[in-house]
Amino acid sequence: MQIFNALSAARPIERTRIVAGKAVVMGGSVAGLLAARVLADHAETVVIIERDDLGETRIPRPGVPQGSQSHALLVGGLRQLERWFPGITAQARQEGAVLLPGREVRTYVDNVPQAATAPYDLLSGTRPFLENVIRRRTFDLPNVKVMPGRVTGLGLGGGRVQGVRWVSGGEEAVEDADFVVDAMGRASKLGDWLEEAGWQKPSLHRVPINVNYATGLFARSPDAPIFGALARRSSAFAAARTAGGAVSPVEGGAWLVMLGGYDDDRPNRTLDGFLLRCREDLPPAFARAVAGEPLKPIATYRQADARRRDYAGLTRLPGGLVSVGDAVASFNPIYGQGITSATLHASSLSAYLWRTPDARMPAHEFFDLQQVIVDAAWQLSTAADLARQQSGAVLPVRRRLARWIGEQIVDASLADETISRRFADVTNMTAHPATLMTPATVARSIWANRHRPAAR
Ligand SMILES: Cc1cc2nc3c(=O)[nH]c(=O)nc-3n(C[C@H](O)[C@H](O)[C@H](O)COP(=O)(O)OP(=O)(O)OC[C@H]3O[C@@H](n4cnc5c(N)ncnc54)[C@H](O)[C@@H]3O)c2cc1C
Repeated sequence: MQIFNALSAARPIERTRIVAGKAVVMGGSVAGLLAARVLADHAETVVIIERDDLGETRIPRPGVPQGSQSHALLVGGLRQLERWFPGITAQARQEGAVLLPGREVRTYVDNVPQAATAPYDLLSGTRPFLENVIRRRTFDLPNVKVMPGRVTGLGLGGGRVQGVRWVSGGEEAVEDADFVVDAMGRASKLGDWLEEAGWQKPSLHRVPINVNYATGLFARSPDAPIFGALARRSSAFAAARTAGGAVSPVEGGAWLVMLGGYDDDRPNRTLDGFLLRCREDLPPAFARAVAGEPLKPIATYRQADARRRDYAGLTRLPGGLVSVGDAVASFNPIYGQGITSATLHASSLSAYLWRTPDARMPAHEFFDLQQVIVDAAWQLSTAADLARQQSGAVLPVRRRLARWIGEQIVDASLADETISRRFADVTNMTAHPATLMTPATVARSIWANRHRPAAR
């Protein structure tokens, strides 16, 4: 928990410490950009190699197919973004993003609102818009440059990574490097490349989720009050039709509205089906948001599993190599943890680069730090996924007890303001999930549920 607290503290960065000549970042999405920002303080030059033409794009791009879906930026992530790019919230707002006051954001579990509103403001915009702001701030750094091309492998020798192989305009090339970051997303091939070169491949752990997303964009009247809503079904309501959804005001005078379903339940691509669910299955905020004119066709997306790669478990690792973002862990998107996790991986990278004498050494210590962040996010989201899948199954006593305690806390967050705030801190990744498991919090939750039973 101490490591999590240290990594999620948003201390300003005031100095630099150069431990590498050239660093290469493979993949220029959110995790790659954040890694490049950190490396700008620790390498003489930083090169990002990205297969998509980034340009000034603020629209979804092929390398990030989830880009048209709703993306929440958790408070833990916003704090880290401010740390790396001071003033980015104000900049994003000036360019059209919306700062949602916490009191206007409601979280619902099984359509029952949690007792307290969020104790902090949220920055709201579409995924391509937010990435664009982060990208421009990263590209403004004098020692960072981007090269368009597709990475095809690593150059390994002398026990460390010496460069990356890549293709641009049909030409193959090798880019020398002292330090290489894999930020190629959940389909990253880094593990295969390591195995082909005789190194260990990290084990891959998957939890099936089969989540289906549908996202629509609707006109928002300029004088309409802004609000946000986040709705989830608890595991006890596994059979409910719509698993959850989100409403948020975004740039361009629009509401972004997302619906999620599990397994065979696919929130419709058709507008009529989408509208019906917003009006019938979810809290009134959803019907209010879809009252305006639809601005785009409904976009759908399916994700089969949550997955993590265990780099921390490798005993043999080439020097000068790390992996960040979805390439290491990608979760059930309903919990909105991806971007915030990437910011905390950047924080882990910074902590590591401050300590290491030479960035060309094997980065075991980095992966140990990162694992604390991955474990925290994984524990929170997969607990609910596993509970949903195992509903009705006979479980060992310890697992049943842990699940019962979890349900007590979620239920109490609907009835008790203190528990509601503690729960929000954990779901926003500003506090470690273990903070909810203290005897005082568990006892307060049980007491709250006994004395003020939740409405469901
Ligand atoms: C439906 C859905 C909804 C989500 N909602 C949320 C949310 O609400 N909040 C949240 O925080 N997160 C959310 N996420 C997760 C979020 O999208 C990711 O965590 C985030 O994009 C960071 O990912 P990344 O940078 O690690 O990888 P990605 O964004 O996947 O980017 C990988 C990059 O690597 C590039 N690349 C890949 N291979 C190569 C190669 N060989 N050579 C060069 N470049 C390469 C790609 O073009 C791309 O730019 C959601 C995900 C999904 C699927």
